[in-house]
Amino acid sequence: FAKKSGKNKYQFFNEHGDKLARKLQLEQDFRSAIEENEFYLEYQPCVELKTGSVYCVEALVRWKHPILGIIPPNEFIPIMEETGWIVNLGTWVLNEACRQNKEWQKLGINVKVAVNVSSIQFEAENFVDVVKEALLKHEMQSDFLEIEITESVMQNVEKSTRIIHELKELGVKISIDDFGTGYSSLSLLSSLSIDHVKIDKSFIDGITSNSNIASVVKKMIEMGESLNFDLIAEGIELEEQANFLIENGCRYGQGYYFSRPVSPEEIQKLLMQMW
Ligand code: C2E
Ligand code: CA
Ligand code: CA
Ligand code: CA
Repeated sequence: FAKKSGKNKYQFFNEHGDKLARKLQLEQDFRSAIEENEFYLEYQPCVELKTGSVYCVEALVRWKHPILGIIPPNEFIPIMEETGWIVNLGTWVLNEACRQNKEWQKLGINVKVAVNVSSIQFEAENFVDVVKEALLKHEMQSDFLEIEITESVMQNVEKSTRIIHELKELGVKISIDDFGTGYSSLSLLSSLSIDHVKIDKSFIDGITSNSNIASVVKKMIEMGESLNFDLIAEGIELEEQANFLIENGCRYGQGYYFSRPVSPEEIQKLLMQMW
């Protein structure tokens, strides 16, 4: 027995050590990863539920590490946030999404693009200038850009209100990501003239199996409607979930049921077929 627990302990430290080593390696390696072109974006369509037409595409970053392979954002973004490097990556993502969007526009594909912005990037001193510069540099129409922020930015309501205001003045759209996982209220969001609120996947997972969750989601949709923003349901995987949302008046949805995140070429094919 003692032997076994000893072995487990060793395994624990070993796993822990491996994790730490990997973290340190990533922390080291992303310093050169932008110049080495190791980041790329995939895009996931967000559709109007009733018609199935694509309303916008969300840019999702991936890191193709030369040794470790493709690393998902949930692994490297928290590390980059700790070190502040997320600001550099965020600027790259924004510019790449604008560049790609402009390319689509030139081909006659008029689709909006949504970009995720970390609260650290959002609160950095020059964020609005970075957005302005990206739009100018790529000659992109500002209302084709949507910025996704999470409720965590509401911890600093005054500052966030000011930034949101400046972004709205540029003509950029704003949405609240992962809604329901933080503490902000829909009425606060309404006073900020947020354009869209994305209901977190954890709610969508439960709508057809858990009646409490179903009624919470119904309430969110009702309130959203009366406060004048459209809701986007995230992480729809099943037809029943899509049907529930349509029946209850949710306007937009996103999820594997419609499409996984795909390459820009695939998005282009998808949208060319539709028009
Ligand atoms: P998010 O913004 O909530 O993005 C949605 C995530 O859910 C994406 O994971 C997407 O691939 C996944 N997803 C979409 N539909 C489904 C579904 O039906 N089922 C399941 N199981 N998953 C679905 P991904 O691409 O791994 O991104 C994870 C998170 O990393 C994002 O969550 C976002 O918070 C962050 N992230 C991604 N790209 C960026 C970026 O460019 N900047 C920043 N700051 N964060 C990013
Ligand atoms: Ca998002
Ligand atoms: Ca989300
Ligand atoms: Ca998320």
